[in-house]
Amino acid sequence: MDFVIPEELSMLRESARRFVAEELMPLEAAHGQAHDIPDDLRARLQARAKELGFWAFDLPAEYGGGGVGALGMCLVFEELAQCNIPAFRAPTVFTPFLGPVLFHGNEAQKAKYLLPVIRGEKRTAFALTEASGGSDPANMATRAVRQGSDWVINGTKIFITGADKADFIQLFARTSGTGRQGITCFLIDKGTPGMRLGQQFELMSPDRPWELVLDNVRVPASQVVGDVGQGWNLAREFLDMGRLIHGPKAVGRATRALRLAINWAKQRKTFGAPLASRQAIQWMIADSEVELHAARLMVYHAASKADRGEPYHTEASMVKLYADEMMLRVVDRAIQIHGGMGLSRELPLELMYRDARSRLVTEGSQEMQRMIIASELLSGGGQIERF
Ligand SMILES: Cc1cc2nc3c(=O)[nH]c(=O)nc-3n(C[C@H](O)[C@H](O)[C@H](O)COP(=O)(O)OP(=O)(O)OC[C@H]3O[C@@H](n4cnc5c(N)ncnc54)[C@H](O)[C@@H]3O)c2cc1C
Repeated sequence: MDFVIPEELSMLRESARRFVAEELMPLEAAHGQAHDIPDDLRARLQARAKELGFWAFDLPAEYGGGGVGALGMCLVFEELAQCNIPAFRAPTVFTPFLGPVLFHGNEAQKAKYLLPVIRGEKRTAFALTEASGGSDPANMATRAVRQGSDWVINGTKIFITGADKADFIQLFARTSGTGRQGITCFLIDKGTPGMRLGQQFELMSPDRPWELVLDNVRVPASQVVGDVGQGWNLAREFLDMGRLIHGPKAVGRATRALRLAINWAKQRKTFGAPLASRQAIQWMIADSEVELHAARLMVYHAASKADRGEPYHTEASMVKLYADEMMLRVVDRAIQIHGGMGLSRELPLELMYRDARSRLVTEGSQEMQRMIIASELLSGGGQIERF
């Protein structure tokens, strides 16, 4: 088995690494605790990302993206994630982070929504979760009812990232049936009468998602993506990609935390010797590296499957489950090695810790990932070929 990163992806990773070190890290001191960056800085970074060929690196080349594939995308995200500026987690700084839904749209939808997003001219948000339970979205209460050539939508979504800045929302509503059948995906333009922002959630992580209220929102049937009643498949595809992307982000941040811990352990002396000379500290460093390596391999494996067009639904769940828990453990050890300084806002570790904790809930909780993995094993008789 060949574990070598292809030459062109290795070069891409190298330039991403340089971009992060030279242009992003210097911004961390000023923007490391803010949950957004000023619009002019966002525009400047977006322009620079376009200049360097990073903008929309993860999207298919035939639509104007960088076409680097899933493995290339993971390698770049791993580098970008090392810079701990909360706003860089959000879409639109380096890529629209679009997800697959709009690629299933018809030509008119692609022209009106997909292409402007890829060019960086429009922003979007993904609205699935409701108060009735994010883990069980099939239980959604938002309803869309057909009236003539229109659909009328009523309901409330919660925890919607970027809803305030979105030019349109990819929104899921029940159009018939129960369970996962009968869910439909709609595109709803900002300013459509009846759609408004509700409360903004203050969380322990820097994320600030929104409640989104739909009160008799009327949209023409042309705003349906794909077939009526088939929205669950679109949502699932989006979530698979989102869970895979959790992997490189966790690996990138944990790598940074481990590097900080190693540097500190070498320079900090207690009882006349550097911390790095103590076995207790060495074991924390060794355990972190082993777990990081395992997570990285899982990410590259799942991404390679995605690039070959093979199903990677279960692998994406395994990546999300393992990489996010790994990140929490590695950051936790890095804080421990730093002692009081690890808790201080002078270092990015406390922010990474809050971030790592919140990742165990977002994009499908850890329990949901375990359910997906177990269900595959149990329904397939345990005979799973991963390679
Ligand atoms: C920062 C942030 C950003 C988000 N962005 C978006 C977004 O842009 N768009 C969007 O649609 N959603 C978004 N979400 C919602 C997110 O996907 C949900 O919060 C998540 O899926 C969990 O759903 P819930 O909060 O309703 O928890 P619940 O579904 O109520 O679950 C509560 C707890 O019970 C556990 N649990 C539930 N069912 C079971 C079971 N059967 N067995 C064992 N344990 C179970 C869960 O694992 C969880 O720990 C965001 C959330 C956060 C925090």
